Amino acid sequence: MLQSPSAPSTPQPKPGVMAISPYVPGKSTAGPNVTVHKLSSNESPLGPSPRAVETLTRLGPQLAFYPDPSATVLRGAIGRRYGLDPARLICGAGSDELLSLVAHAYLGPGDEAVYSTYGFLVYRIAILACGATPVIAAEKDYTADVDALIGAVNARTRIVFLANPNNPTGTYLPFDEVKRLHAALPPTCLLVLDAAYAEYVQRNDYEAGIELVAGNHNVIMMRTLSKIYGLAALRIGWAYGPPGVIDAMNRIRGPFNMNAAAIAAGAAAIDDQAHVEQARAHNDLWLPKLTKALSELGLHVTPSVGNFLLIHFPLTTGRTAADADAFLMARGLILRRVDGYGLPAALRLTIGSDEQNRLVVSALTEFMST
Ligand SMILES: *Cc1c(COP(=O)(O)O)cnc(C)c1O
Repeated sequence: MLQSPSAPSTPQPKPGVMAISPYVPGKSTAGPNVTVHKLSSNESPLGPSPRAVETLTRLGPQLAFYPDPSATVLRGAIGRRYGLDPARLICGAGSDELLSLVAHAYLGPGDEAVYSTYGFLVYRIAILACGATPVIAAEKDYTADVDALIGAVNARTRIVFLANPNNPTGTYLPFDEVKRLHAALPPTCLLVLDAAYAEYVQRNDYEAGIELVAGNHNVIMMRTLSKIYGLAALRIGWAYGPPGVIDAMNRIRGPFNMNAAAIAAGAAAIDDQAHVEQARAHNDLWLPKLTKALSELGLHVTPSVGNFLLIHFPLTTGRTAADADAFLMARGLILRRVDGYGLPAALRLTIGSDEQNRLVVSALTEFMST
Protein backbone atom coordinates (compact mmCIF):
# COMPACT_ATOMS: atom_id res chain seq x y z
CA MET A 1 0.00 0.00 0.00
CA LEU A 2 1.25 3.46 -0.89
CA GLN A 3 1.65 5.96 1.93
CA SER A 4 2.96 9.48 1.86
CA PRO A 5 5.81 9.99 4.35
CA SER A 6 3.66 12.23 6.55
CA ALA A 7 0.69 9.86 6.77
CA PRO A 8 -0.09 8.59 10.26
CA SER A 9 0.78 4.96 10.91
CA THR A 10 -1.93 4.31 13.49
CA PRO A 11 -5.72 4.86 13.55
CA GLN A 12 -6.47 8.51 14.29
CA PRO A 13 -9.50 9.61 16.37
CA LYS A 14 -11.71 12.10 14.54
CA PRO A 15 -11.01 15.82 15.05
CA GLY A 16 -11.94 17.01 18.53
CA VAL A 17 -11.49 13.75 20.39
CA MET A 18 -7.88 14.26 21.51
CA ALA A 19 -8.74 17.81 22.63
CA ILE A 20 -10.98 16.35 25.35
CA SER A 21 -9.65 16.47 28.91
CA PRO A 22 -11.08 13.30 30.48
CA TYR A 23 -13.78 13.91 33.09
CA VAL A 24 -12.34 13.56 36.59
CA PRO A 25 -14.94 11.94 38.86
CA GLY A 26 -15.09 12.58 42.60
CA LYS A 27 -12.53 10.54 44.52
CA SER A 28 -13.78 7.71 46.70
CA THR A 29 -10.66 6.59 48.57
CA ALA A 30 -8.68 8.43 51.26
CA GLY A 31 -5.61 7.49 53.31
CA PRO A 32 -5.07 4.05 54.85
CA ASN A 33 -6.92 3.20 58.09
CA VAL A 34 -9.42 6.03 57.89
CA THR A 35 -13.19 5.76 57.56
CA VAL A 36 -14.11 7.25 54.22
CA HIS A 37 -16.77 9.94 53.98
CA LYS A 38 -17.38 10.51 50.30
CA LEU A 39 -18.64 14.06 49.90
CA SER A 40 -17.31 14.52 46.40
CA SER A 41 -20.09 13.51 44.01
CA ASN A 42 -23.31 15.09 45.30
CA GLU A 43 -24.77 11.70 46.19
CA SER A 44 -27.66 11.50 48.66
CA PRO A 45 -26.72 10.88 52.31
CA LEU A 46 -30.13 9.23 52.73
CA GLY A 47 -29.42 6.60 50.08
CA PRO A 48 -32.07 5.14 47.80
CA SER A 49 -35.74 4.56 48.49
CA PRO A 50 -36.23 1.24 50.34
CA ARG A 51 -38.91 0.49 47.76
CA ALA A 52 -36.36 0.77 44.94
CA VAL A 53 -34.00 -1.57 46.79
CA GLU A 54 -36.78 -4.07 47.42
CA THR A 55 -37.72 -3.99 43.73
CA LEU A 56 -34.14 -4.85 42.78
CA THR A 57 -34.14 -7.99 44.92
CA ARG A 58 -37.04 -9.41 42.91
CA LEU A 59 -35.26 -9.02 39.57
CA GLY A 60 -32.96 -12.05 39.65
CA PRO A 61 -35.09 -14.51 37.67
CA GLN A 62 -35.59 -11.91 34.90
CA LEU A 63 -31.92 -11.32 34.16
CA ALA A 64 -31.77 -13.62 31.11
CA PHE A 65 -34.26 -11.42 29.25
CA TYR A 66 -33.55 -8.21 27.39
CA PRO A 67 -35.10 -5.16 29.06
CA ASP A 68 -38.02 -3.24 27.58
CA PRO A 69 -36.33 -1.10 24.88
CA SER A 70 -38.78 1.75 25.55
CA ALA A 71 -38.48 1.78 29.38
CA THR A 72 -42.28 1.98 29.40
CA VAL A 73 -42.76 1.43 33.14
CA LEU A 74 -40.24 4.12 34.03
CA ARG A 75 -41.55 6.66 31.53
CA GLY A 76 -45.06 5.91 32.80
CA ALA A 77 -44.06 6.55 36.41
CA ILE A 78 -42.32 9.82 35.47
CA GLY A 79 -45.29 10.88 33.34
CA ARG A 80 -47.73 10.30 36.21
CA ARG A 81 -45.57 12.00 38.79
CA TYR A 82 -44.82 15.12 36.76
CA GLY A 83 -47.98 15.26 34.65
CA LEU A 84 -46.10 14.69 31.36
CA ASP A 85 -46.91 12.77 28.19
CA PRO A 86 -44.66 9.65 28.25
CA ALA A 87 -44.34 9.89 24.44
CA ARG A 88 -42.31 13.04 24.99
CA LEU A 89 -39.95 11.40 27.53
CA ILE A 90 -36.69 9.61 26.85
CA CYS A 91 -34.62 7.78 29.47
CA GLY A 92 -30.87 7.36 29.46
CA ALA A 93 -28.00 5.81 31.40
CA GLY A 94 -27.78 8.90 33.56
CA SER A 95 -28.43 12.33 32.13
CA ASP A 96 -24.82 12.05 30.97
CA GLU A 97 -26.00 9.71 28.22
CA LEU A 98 -28.84 12.06 27.30
CA LEU A 99 -26.45 15.02 27.08
CA SER A 100 -24.25 12.98 24.79
CA LEU A 101 -27.23 11.86 22.67
CA VAL A 102 -28.55 15.36 22.20
CA ALA A 103 -25.07 16.56 21.24
CA HIS A 104 -24.59 13.74 18.74
CA ALA A 105 -28.01 14.33 17.21
CA TYR A 106 -27.50 18.08 16.69
CA LEU A 107 -23.78 18.88 16.56
CA GLY A 108 -21.13 18.27 13.94
CA PRO A 109 -17.93 19.92 12.68
CA GLY A 110 -18.47 23.64 12.07
CA ASP A 111 -21.31 23.85 14.59
CA GLU A 112 -21.01 25.73 17.84
CA ALA A 113 -22.51 25.05 21.25
CA VAL A 114 -22.54 27.49 24.15
CA TYR A 115 -22.19 27.04 27.90
CA SER A 116 -21.03 29.31 30.72
CA THR A 117 -17.58 29.55 32.31
CA TYR A 118 -18.24 27.25 35.26
CA GLY A 119 -20.90 25.20 33.50
CA PHE A 120 -21.01 21.43 34.06
CA LEU A 121 -17.94 19.95 32.30
CA VAL A 122 -19.82 17.11 30.63
CA TYR A 123 -21.12 19.70 28.10
CA ARG A 124 -17.62 20.44 26.87
CA ILE A 125 -16.85 16.75 26.50
CA ALA A 126 -20.09 16.09 24.59
CA ILE A 127 -19.49 19.06 22.26
CA LEU A 128 -15.89 18.12 21.46
CA ALA A 129 -16.83 14.46 20.97
CA CYS A 130 -19.02 15.61 18.07
CA GLY A 131 -16.22 17.61 16.47
CA ALA A 132 -18.15 20.79 17.24
CA THR A 133 -16.78 23.99 18.79
CA PRO A 134 -17.43 24.91 22.44
CA VAL A 135 -18.12 28.60 23.04
CA ILE A 136 -17.88 29.83 26.62
CA ALA A 137 -19.98 32.70 27.96
CA ALA A 138 -18.67 34.70 30.95
CA GLU A 139 -20.45 34.48 34.32
CA LYS A 140 -21.20 37.06 37.00
CA ASP A 141 -20.60 36.07 40.63
CA TYR A 142 -20.28 32.41 39.65
CA THR A 143 -23.73 32.62 38.06
CA ALA A 144 -24.70 32.17 34.41
CA ASP A 145 -25.24 35.55 32.76
CA VAL A 146 -28.07 35.63 30.25
CA ASP A 147 -26.71 38.62 28.34
CA ALA A 148 -23.33 36.94 27.92
CA LEU A 149 -25.00 33.68 26.82
CA ILE A 150 -27.09 35.57 24.25
CA GLY A 151 -23.97 37.41 23.11
CA ALA A 152 -22.21 34.10 22.47
CA VAL A 153 -24.94 32.84 20.13
CA ASN A 154 -24.58 33.26 16.37
CA ALA A 155 -25.83 31.61 13.17
CA ARG A 156 -23.62 28.55 13.79
CA THR A 157 -24.94 27.92 17.33
CA ARG A 158 -26.95 24.70 17.51
CA ILE A 159 -27.21 24.20 21.28
CA VAL A 160 -27.06 26.28 24.45
CA PHE A 161 -26.44 24.15 27.54
CA LEU A 162 -27.60 25.58 30.86
CA ALA A 163 -27.32 23.71 34.15
CA ASN A 164 -29.94 25.24 36.43
CA PRO A 165 -28.92 25.06 39.24
CA ASN A 166 -25.34 24.72 38.07
CA ASN A 167 -22.76 22.28 39.34
CA PRO A 168 -20.13 23.04 40.75
CA THR A 169 -21.27 26.54 41.74
CA GLY A 170 -24.72 25.80 43.18
CA THR A 171 -26.13 29.03 41.73
CA TYR A 172 -29.31 29.29 39.64
CA LEU A 173 -31.20 31.50 37.24
CA PRO A 174 -34.77 32.60 38.01
CA PHE A 175 -37.32 31.36 35.48
CA ASP A 176 -37.80 34.87 34.06
CA GLU A 177 -34.14 34.90 33.09
CA VAL A 178 -34.35 31.46 31.49
CA LYS A 179 -37.34 32.66 29.48
CA ARG A 180 -35.44 35.77 28.43
CA LEU A 181 -32.57 33.58 27.24
CA HIS A 182 -34.93 31.35 25.30
CA ALA A 183 -36.73 34.29 23.69
CA ALA A 184 -33.43 35.55 22.26
CA LEU A 185 -32.44 32.22 20.64
CA PRO A 186 -33.09 31.52 16.97
CA PRO A 187 -35.75 28.80 16.54
CA THR A 188 -33.08 26.44 15.14
CA CYS A 189 -31.01 26.62 18.33
CA LEU A 190 -31.83 24.08 21.01
CA LEU A 191 -31.87 25.13 24.68
CA VAL A 192 -30.85 22.23 26.93
CA LEU A 193 -31.99 22.83 30.51
CA ASP A 194 -30.10 20.48 32.80
CA ALA A 195 -32.12 20.43 36.04
CA ALA A 196 -30.21 17.69 37.89
CA TYR A 197 -30.75 19.48 41.22
CA ALA A 198 -34.27 20.83 40.63
CA GLU A 199 -35.83 18.92 43.55
CA TYR A 200 -33.55 20.67 46.04
CA VAL A 201 -34.37 24.22 44.98
CA GLN A 202 -36.60 26.12 47.39
CA ARG A 203 -37.08 29.42 45.57
CA ASN A 204 -40.36 30.87 44.35
CA ASP A 205 -38.76 32.27 41.20
CA TYR A 206 -37.29 28.91 40.11
CA GLU A 207 -38.76 26.50 37.54
CA ALA A 208 -37.05 23.42 36.15
CA GLY A 209 -38.41 24.23 32.69
CA ILE A 210 -41.42 21.98 32.07
CA GLU A 211 -43.58 24.91 30.98
CA LEU A 212 -40.94 26.15 28.53
CA VAL A 213 -40.55 22.68 26.98
CA ALA A 214 -44.30 22.24 26.66
CA GLY A 215 -44.77 25.42 24.64
CA ASN A 216 -41.74 25.31 22.33
CA HIS A 217 -39.99 23.20 19.69
CA ASN A 218 -36.46 24.04 20.78
CA VAL A 219 -36.23 23.39 24.54
CA ILE A 220 -35.44 20.13 26.30
CA MET A 221 -35.22 19.55 30.06
CA MET A 222 -32.99 16.86 31.57
CA ARG A 223 -33.38 15.27 34.99
CA THR A 224 -31.60 12.57 36.94
CA LEU A 225 -32.24 9.99 39.63
CA SER A 226 -28.58 10.16 40.67
CA LYS A 227 -28.98 13.02 43.10
CA ILE A 228 -32.01 13.44 45.38
CA TYR A 229 -33.32 9.95 44.49
CA GLY A 230 -30.05 8.38 45.67
CA LEU A 231 -29.70 6.01 42.70
CA ALA A 232 -26.43 7.14 41.09
CA ALA A 233 -25.18 3.56 40.80
CA LEU A 234 -28.06 2.55 38.53
CA ARG A 235 -27.48 5.38 36.01
CA ILE A 236 -30.96 6.78 35.42
CA GLY A 237 -31.66 10.05 33.66
CA TRP A 238 -34.68 11.31 31.78
CA ALA A 239 -35.54 14.12 29.45
CA TYR A 240 -38.77 15.87 28.49
CA GLY A 241 -38.62 17.41 25.06
CA PRO A 242 -40.38 18.32 21.83
CA PRO A 243 -41.49 15.27 19.79
CA GLY A 244 -38.94 16.03 17.04
CA VAL A 245 -36.00 16.15 19.44
CA ILE A 246 -37.09 13.02 21.33
CA ASP A 247 -37.48 11.24 17.99
CA ALA A 248 -33.96 12.21 16.87
CA MET A 249 -32.44 11.03 20.15
CA ASN A 250 -34.35 7.75 20.05
CA ARG A 251 -32.95 7.03 16.60
CA ILE A 252 -29.33 7.19 17.68
CA ARG A 253 -29.48 5.66 21.17
CA GLY A 254 -28.64 2.04 21.87
CA PRO A 255 -31.87 0.03 21.54
CA PHE A 256 -31.49 -1.30 25.12
CA ASN A 257 -29.81 1.72 26.70
CA MET A 258 -31.78 1.32 29.93
CA ASN A 259 -31.15 -1.88 31.85
CA ALA A 260 -33.94 -3.77 33.60
CA ALA A 261 -32.75 -2.86 37.10
CA ALA A 262 -32.74 0.85 36.25
CA ILE A 263 -36.21 0.66 34.73
CA ALA A 264 -37.85 -1.23 37.61
CA ALA A 265 -36.06 0.38 40.55
CA GLY A 266 -36.28 3.82 38.94
CA ALA A 267 -40.06 3.53 38.65
CA ALA A 268 -40.32 2.39 42.28
CA ALA A 269 -38.20 5.35 43.38
CA ILE A 270 -40.34 7.83 41.44
CA ASP A 271 -43.39 6.39 43.20
CA ASP A 272 -41.81 6.93 46.63
CA GLN A 273 -42.07 10.70 46.96
CA ALA A 274 -42.03 10.43 50.77
CA HIS A 275 -38.39 9.41 50.48
CA VAL A 276 -37.63 12.39 48.23
CA GLU A 277 -39.36 14.63 50.76
CA GLN A 278 -37.08 13.32 53.53
CA ALA A 279 -33.98 14.01 51.46
CA ARG A 280 -35.23 17.51 50.71
CA ALA A 281 -35.96 18.21 54.39
CA HIS A 282 -32.46 17.04 55.35
CA ASN A 283 -30.96 19.36 52.75
CA ASP A 284 -33.14 22.29 53.83
CA LEU A 285 -31.82 21.88 57.34
CA TRP A 286 -28.13 21.59 56.46
CA LEU A 287 -27.70 23.90 53.47
CA PRO A 288 -28.09 27.13 55.52
CA LYS A 289 -26.43 25.60 58.59
CA LEU A 290 -23.26 24.59 56.74
CA THR A 291 -23.15 27.83 54.76
CA LYS A 292 -23.26 29.79 58.01
CA ALA A 293 -20.78 27.60 59.88
CA LEU A 294 -18.20 27.72 57.09
CA SER A 295 -18.67 31.45 56.51
CA GLU A 296 -18.03 32.05 60.21
CA LEU A 297 -14.65 30.40 59.76
CA GLY A 298 -13.75 33.17 57.31
CA LEU A 299 -14.29 31.02 54.23
CA HIS A 300 -16.24 32.43 51.31
CA VAL A 301 -19.11 30.14 50.35
CA THR A 302 -20.98 30.73 47.08
CA PRO A 303 -24.72 30.84 47.92
CA SER A 304 -26.11 27.47 46.78
CA VAL A 305 -29.60 26.15 46.11
CA GLY A 306 -28.38 22.57 45.53
CA ASN A 307 -27.09 19.79 47.78
CA PHE A 308 -23.50 21.02 47.71
CA LEU A 309 -21.41 24.10 48.48
CA LEU A 310 -18.56 25.72 46.60
CA ILE A 311 -16.07 26.79 49.27
CA HIS A 312 -13.36 29.32 48.38
CA PHE A 313 -10.09 29.11 50.32
CA PRO A 314 -7.41 31.75 50.96
CA LEU A 315 -4.33 31.81 48.72
CA THR A 316 -1.96 31.94 51.70
CA THR A 317 0.39 28.98 52.06
CA GLY A 318 -1.00 26.47 54.52
CA ARG A 319 -4.59 27.66 54.01
CA THR A 320 -5.14 26.90 50.32
CA ALA A 321 -7.76 24.61 48.82
CA ALA A 322 -5.02 22.05 48.11
CA ASP A 323 -3.88 22.24 51.75
CA ALA A 324 -7.45 21.90 52.97
CA ASP A 325 -8.00 18.93 50.66
CA ALA A 326 -4.95 17.14 52.07
CA PHE A 327 -5.97 17.97 55.64
CA LEU A 328 -9.51 16.67 55.11
CA MET A 329 -8.38 13.61 53.17
CA ALA A 330 -6.16 12.55 56.06
CA ARG A 331 -9.36 12.49 58.14
CA GLY A 332 -11.27 10.49 55.53
CA LEU A 333 -13.28 13.50 54.37
CA ILE A 334 -13.27 13.53 50.59
CA LEU A 335 -14.38 16.76 48.95
CA ARG A 336 -14.18 17.57 45.25
CA ARG A 337 -11.23 19.41 43.74
CA VAL A 338 -12.55 21.72 41.04
CA ASP A 339 -9.28 22.67 39.31
CA GLY A 340 -10.73 21.23 36.10
CA TYR A 341 -13.33 23.99 36.20
CA GLY A 342 -10.68 26.67 36.55
CA LEU A 343 -11.39 26.90 40.29
CA PRO A 344 -8.11 25.78 41.90
CA ALA A 345 -8.80 27.87 45.03
CA ALA A 346 -12.09 26.15 45.80
CA LEU A 347 -13.43 22.79 46.94
CA ARG A 348 -16.94 21.47 46.44
CA LEU A 349 -18.61 19.88 49.45
CA THR A 350 -21.64 17.61 49.15
CA ILE A 351 -24.07 17.95 52.04
CA GLY A 352 -23.70 14.67 53.91
CA SER A 353 -25.29 12.96 56.88
CA ASP A 354 -25.60 14.78 60.22
CA GLU A 355 -22.40 13.09 61.39
CA GLN A 356 -20.47 13.84 58.21
CA ASN A 357 -21.49 17.50 58.22
CA ARG A 358 -20.35 17.89 61.82
CA LEU A 359 -17.04 16.19 61.02
CA VAL A 360 -16.42 18.58 58.11
CA VAL A 361 -17.17 21.65 60.21
CA SER A 362 -14.93 20.55 63.05
CA ALA A 363 -12.10 19.55 60.69
CA LEU A 364 -12.26 22.87 58.84
CA THR A 365 -12.43 24.75 62.15
CA GLU A 366 -9.19 23.05 63.13
CA PHE A 367 -7.68 23.66 59.67
CA MET A 368 -8.43 27.39 59.76
CA SER A 369 -7.10 27.87 63.29
CA THR A 370 -3.77 26.02 63.02
C1 LIG B 1 -24.85 15.01 38.50
C2 LIG B 1 -25.22 15.85 37.34
C3 LIG B 1 -25.86 15.32 36.23
C4 LIG B 1 -26.39 13.94 36.16
O1 LIG B 1 -25.59 12.93 36.17
P1 LIG B 1 -26.12 11.47 35.82
O2 LIG B 1 -25.67 10.68 36.99
O3 LIG B 1 -25.44 11.15 34.55
O4 LIG B 1 -27.60 11.49 35.67
C5 LIG B 1 -26.22 16.16 35.20
N1 LIG B 1 -25.96 17.46 35.25
C6 LIG B 1 -25.36 18.02 36.30
C7 LIG B 1 -25.16 19.47 36.32
C8 LIG B 1 -24.96 17.23 37.37
O5 LIG B 1 -24.33 17.78 38.41
